[in-house]
Amino acid sequence: MNAITQAKRIVIKVGTSTLAHKTGMLNIRRIESLVKTLADLQNSGRELVLVSSGAIGVGSGKLGLKERPSDTPTKQACASIGQCELMYVYDKLFSEYNHCVSQILMTRYTTDTPNCAQNVVNTFERLFSLGVIPIVNENDSVSVEEIEFGDNDTLSALVAKLTNAEALVILTDIDGLYDDDPRKNPDAKLIPVVEKIDARIEALAQGKGSTLGTGGMITKVNAAQMATKAGIPVYILNGADPKILYRLFDGETVGTVFTV
Ligand code: GLU
Repeated sequence: MNAITQAKRIVIKVGTSTLAHKTGMLNIRRIESLVKTLADLQNSGRELVLVSSGAIGVGSGKLGLKERPSDTPTKQACASIGQCELMYVYDKLFSEYNHCVSQILMTRYTTDTPNCAQNVVNTFERLFSLGVIPIVNENDSVSVEEIEFGDNDTLSALVAKLTNAEALVILTDIDGLYDDDPRKNPDAKLIPVVEKIDARIEALAQGKGSTLGTGGMITKVNAAQMATKAGIPVYILNGADPKILYRLFDGETVGTVFTV
């Protein structure tokens, strides 16, 4: 069951709530710990892809907006500002550990158009062979409703499929999937293993997440559905301490795994 200890190519998705404070400003301590952990995992011989949200949240923080914007042009402007900031910080921190990162921005058009999908696959493959860690986000400044993924959970599952990853890890602001809402019910219990995503699991995942991100648990369960159907196990973990990834890769049971 613990295929992750052997997995080489892994997609790791990190959400806005993990990367940014509630103010929208970057959580520097967290992002430093994430980068250090990922750099070390890459050093151990794994091939990582980081799917990072945070562009809109960080852009709105940088502009001093009180909350995530709701209109599309402001969201797009924030994404365009925040994406620079994010990549600047990732590049700076990964360079400290001698790792090269790259940016890949995708839209639905990229995955739905066979030519584009093949082009991006070629880029990924070449980046892997060069030892680079690709950092992926949605191209929010060109995506509008009809071509948007909407949330990076779906994007991360598509990236896992495109790159033939052996595992998808989603870092979020909760320990995994619970049998009830742990924010309301202190007796709610974490579900360590989900073998089948049925109506009961979908019902448990309903409800929205934090104020800065999109998604919530339902988009993660939908992403898990998409990835596991393609034979890729999915792990949902709390990203509050990114070093949890070491425990996962060492074979410890942490968070919720969706098995194949
Ligand atoms: N692509 C959006 C961003 O970087 C995030 C979407 C999501 O929250 O999943 O802000």
